Amino acid sequence: MATEKKEKKEVKLEYEDRNGWLGASEKEKKEIFAFAEDYMKYLDASKTERECVVTSVALLEKAGFTDIAKKKKLAAGDKVYFVNKKKSLYAAVIGTDSPEKGVKLVGAHLDSPRLDLKPNPLYEDTEIALFKTHYYGGIRKYQWVAVPLALHGVVVLTDGTVKEINIGEDEKDPVLIISDLLPHLAAKQSKKPLSEAISGEDLNIIIGSIPMADEKKDKKGEEAAARGSVKKNILKILHEKYGIKERDFTSAELEIVPAFKARSLGLDGSMVASYGHDDRVCSFPELRALLDVKKPKMTAVCMLTDKEEIGSEGNTGMQSQNFELFLMEMLEKQGYNSPYTLQKMLSNSMCLSADVTAAFDPTFPEVFERSNAAYFGHGIAFCKYTGGRGKSGASDANPEFIGYVRGLFEKAGVAHQFCEMGKVDEGGGGTIAHFLANKGMEVLDCGVPVLSMHSPYEQISKFDLYHSYLGYKAFLK
Ligand code: MN
Ligand code: MN
Repeated sequence: MATEKKEKKEVKLEYEDRNGWLGASEKEKKEIFAFAEDYMKYLDASKTERECVVTSVALLEKAGFTDIAKKKKLAAGDKVYFVNKKKSLYAAVIGTDSPEKGVKLVGAHLDSPRLDLKPNPLYEDTEIALFKTHYYGGIRKYQWVAVPLALHGVVVLTDGTVKEINIGEDEKDPVLIISDLLPHLAAKQSKKPLSEAISGEDLNIIIGSIPMADEKKDKKGEEAAARGSVKKNILKILHEKYGIKERDFTSAELEIVPAFKARSLGLDGSMVASYGHDDRVCSFPELRALLDVKKPKMTAVCMLTDKEEIGSEGNTGMQSQNFELFLMEMLEKQGYNSPYTLQKMLSNSMCLSADVTAAFDPTFPEVFERSNAAYFGHGIAFCKYTGGRGKSGASDANPEFIGYVRGLFEKAGVAHQFCEMGKVDEGGGGTIAHFLANKGMEVLDCGVPVLSMHSPYEQISKFDLYHSYLGYKAFLK
C-alpha cells in the first residue's frame, strides 16, 4: 500500500513564484514591521560610512563583541570586530571547525551615492554664498536639485584635532539646497537631454545670504551698508560653531546628503522610503544576522566595506589588503601563522555578496525582462552574475554553491528569487563579488530589490528586508 501511495503522489514540475505577503502569518507580519522600525532608526543615525561604523560598532558591543586588538587568544564562540580607518568594519564569531576549512562571509558596503565638497568649496556669487561639490558614485544629477540637504562629515586641523560637523538633521537646524530654474525661464534647459539638464558644475549648495559689513567703510555710514561679504559671514559662523577656517576645508571629508528621514511608504505601510538603502538595506540585516550567531561550525564573518560606489578602491574599499590583515589576526590568535593557512582558508570560504539589485518598476517595464526581474515582496534576490554586455565584469557564481545556498534557504523558509538587473544590453552594474571571488572563495550576490536606486529617496519592501535577515542568518549559523 505504501509504495502505491508514493507512486500516485504528483511531482510539481513547474515553479510558481508568488508574493511572500500572501503566505505570511500575522505573527510574521508583526516581526517584519518591528524589524523595519529598527532598520529605519539605523538609517536615520547612519547617513555616512563613518556614522554607519559608529552605529554598527554600538550594536556589536551591546551584543558582546570586543575589539580584536584587545584579545590575546581566540577560541570557538568568541566575538570580535575590527574597525578599518573609521570607514569600514569587519566582525566575526569564531567557529569550531579548523580555520583551514574556510569562513562563511556576508559582505555589504556602507557608502552611498552623495555629493562631496570640493577641497576649496566656499565662494560667493552675487550676494549668495555657496559650496562647490563633486558628486560621489552614480547619481542622476537632476534628482538632487530643489530637495532639502544636510552636511555631514569631519574637518581635520593641522594638529590632528577632528571637528565633527552635522547640519540639517535636527528639526531646529537649517537645511541646505541646490537651486533649479523656474519653468518660466527654463525653455532652453528643458530641451536638453535629462543627463545634461543639470551639469556637475551646477551642483552648487546654497549656504547663506547675509553679508558681513566691510568694517573700514562701515564708519562712513550709508555707503558702507551697500558693501559686505556673505562668504566672510559664513566663515565667521563656521569659526564660532566649529573653530574652523577656510583653509581647513582642504583636510576635510564633508558629504552632502538628503535631509529626509526614513519613512514607512504606502497606504499599507509595507515599504520604506529613505536615502541610502544601497547598501545599508543589506548592511543592517547582515549585522543583525551575525548578532544571532552563537557557536558556528565555520567562523561567521560580517564585512561592511567602503568605496563600493566608486570601484572598491582605496584602503577602506574591498580591494584593500586590510581585510586579509583582519583574517590573519584571527588566525594568529587561534595559533595559526602560515600564509598557506590564510590562502587555504580564503579558497575554502563561502561568501554572500550582500548588495541591492533593481526592483521591477511598473512605470518603466521596458527596461526589465519579466521572467528574470526581481519583484517587491518576493524575498531576497539572487544574482548569479552582474556586469553588462556579455557578463563583463561579473564573477558568475558556481551552480554547486548556488544549489547549496538554495538548499539552506528552502530549509529555513527564506523567501528568495533569482534575477538579472534589467534586460540584456540595457545597462549593468557591479558589486564587490568579483573582488572576493578573485581571492578564491565561492561568491554569490544576494540582496534586497530597490526602486529608484541611487536617488535621494530610494524605496524597498519590508518583506524583502526581513527575509534578507532570515537568509543571512540561515547562511551564517
Ligand atoms: Mn550597492
Ligand atoms: Mn550602488
